[in-house]
Amino acid sequence: MKPHVYSLPMPTRFRGITRREGVVLEGPAGWAEFSPFLDYDDAESLGWWRAAQDSAHREWPAAVRDRVPVNCTVPAVGPEEAARVVRASGCQTAKVKVAEPGQSLDDDVQRVSAVREALGPGGRVRVDANGLWDVEQAVAAVRALHDAATLEYVEQPCRTVEELALVRRRVEVPVAADESIRRAEDPLRVRDLEAADIAVIKVQPLGGVHACLRIAEQIGLPVVVSSAVESSVGLAAGLALAAALPELPYACGLATTSLLDGDVVSAPLVPVDGYLPVGRVTPDAAALATAAADPETTARWLDRLARVQALAGDRR
Ligand SMILES: [Mg+2]
Repeated sequence: MKPHVYSLPMPTRFRGITRREGVVLEGPAGWAEFSPFLDYDDAESLGWWRAAQDSAHREWPAAVRDRVPVNCTVPAVGPEEAARVVRASGCQTAKVKVAEPGQSLDDDVQRVSAVREALGPGGRVRVDANGLWDVEQAVAAVRALHDAATLEYVEQPCRTVEELALVRRRVEVPVAADESIRRAEDPLRVRDLEAADIAVIKVQPLGGVHACLRIAEQIGLPVVVSSAVESSVGLAAGLALAAALPELPYACGLATTSLLDGDVVSAPLVPVDGYLPVGRVTPDAAALATAAADPETTARWLDRLARVQALAGDRR
């Protein structure tokens, strides 16, 4: 399996980064992606490697739907740009980043208000704070944002599972757990502490499509499958999970190719009327060449890949 290292610019800073890097490789079952964020150490990248192995070597589980409803993602931009992103997406659900460092609650209120107006009353607006509020800030912010735009749910308002449980008992807006599942030693603590109404599940950090299907069964909450801002190869694995879930009451966070300038395929997974198609994605040589990382970045990723493979006890 020859790894191809990609490096793609991000038009808008997201999660504090301006480039997305990773590896795609082809196995007997199809193409797979390994792209842990740069702040993840080798141990924390193990799940991402298992996910790549899963996609490369195993057939995905049987699909019960052939397309998946998706949300657009609105970065921490001003209200006019936020409305433009929503209209350009064609999606009926928008996820809006809030609690950006250096911005105020008023910035968030203006952004979600503009998104609500762009979607109209029938659309759904969810917000994601990436754990950056404390409990009191979260309660106040969720109430203000709900007043402004009627929220579908708030994702990861605070950092810890205990804080999520406290917020959940004080606001009427449903709480979704993301980092509390993805970066937790035990993703099921969210269930045990009744800390969330919705589970955000990401295929790569949680070890692959099959592992995530088991977590979804065990956690007993509605699942929103989301991307880790991957190339279309990584997104296809998320779509395979979403397609296999018995119930899918919420739009998934898989329409993230708009956050990247380029892809490893010539026809990236871009939503049509708010849906993405289910199926394997195959990179082509031209797109791989355009997306290819410089030699230094390539060497760094191949080294990282080798270390994580060694840690996994896997020399395949
Ligand atoms: Mg999130």
